[in-house]
Amino acid sequence: LRQPLLDADKVSSRDFEKEVHFEGSMPIETLAERGEETLAFGPFKPVGLTDPRTGERPFAVVQLRVENQAGTAYNLVGCQTKLKYGEQERVFRMIPGLENAQFERLGSVHRNTFVNAPRVLKDLEFSARPGVYLAGQITGVEGYVESAACGLWLGLALGAKLAKEPLAPPPPESVLGGLLNHLAVEVKNFQPSNANFGLTPALGKRAKKRDRKRLFAERAREAFMRWLGSAEIPGKKITS
Ligand SMILES: Cc1cc2nc3c(=O)[nH]c(=O)nc-3n(C[C@H](O)[C@H](O)[C@H](O)COP(=O)(O)OP(=O)(O)OC[C@H]3O[C@@H](n4cnc5c(N)ncnc54)[C@H](O)[C@@H]3O)c2cc1C
Repeated sequence: LRQPLLDADKVSSRDFEKEVHFEGSMPIETLAERGEETLAFGPFKPVGLTDPRTGERPFAVVQLRVENQAGTAYNLVGCQTKLKYGEQERVFRMIPGLENAQFERLGSVHRNTFVNAPRVLKDLEFSARPGVYLAGQITGVEGYVESAACGLWLGLALGAKLAKEPLAPPPPESVLGGLLNHLAVEVKNFQPSNANFGLTPALGKRAKKRDRKRLFAERAREAFMRWLGSAEIPGKKITS
């Protein structure tokens, strides 16, 4: 599929558009440009999948994510694209199994709007407009859980503020604490971030690569539960 993706007609950018792609959702043709094998990784990596007909692991797979309740429409995961509409139908039908696919909606790249949070926000409140707060994607967190967690935290923090109760922010070792730090520390080129342990402080000890995620997760969970135990949070019984 790589060559057809590279050769296909794409929608070109307008003069006023600067194309800076978010690493987590690159157009598939941009991924294809990166190298021969790039499309065999990320969402296309066939982890745990063997072809029942041959018993072999495929080189790459496309995940179909169900789109409607009836289960009659599917989303091609990771196939965000700037290919022209006709080209999308032509190229994606080259995927084995999709030769006769009917396309209900075609893709177009979306713009992600976010503020330079470290510069304009302080504890999610506009420094220049006290009393106006932001939460979610627009602050520079990225993803469903991250956006919801950011909103939940702001709700709790504002509730505590209104009740004049002290409420410390979640610890930096926790992923929510790390995300909130990401919104607070000025950098040269601020970009949105998904949850990841790179946002939390270094482990401070040597660990094998395969153990690192577990150690980060254990430390995060412990720190978060300690914080939760000490914080006066409405509905805490439910959350813990
Ligand atoms: C194609 C695509 C695929 C994605 N896939 C994933 C994924 O697989 N996993 C994942 O974790 N994340 C994914 N994301 C990211 C995820 O959707 C966002 O991070 C998340 O939805 C942001 O939530 P939010 O509530 O902060 O913002 P939004 O969901 O963008 O909600 C903002 C709301 O505000 C409304 N609004 C805007 N302006 C106004 C206004 N002036 N007045 C009133 N309302 C207004 C909008 O209509 C919208 O409903 C994807 C995003 C896109 C676009």
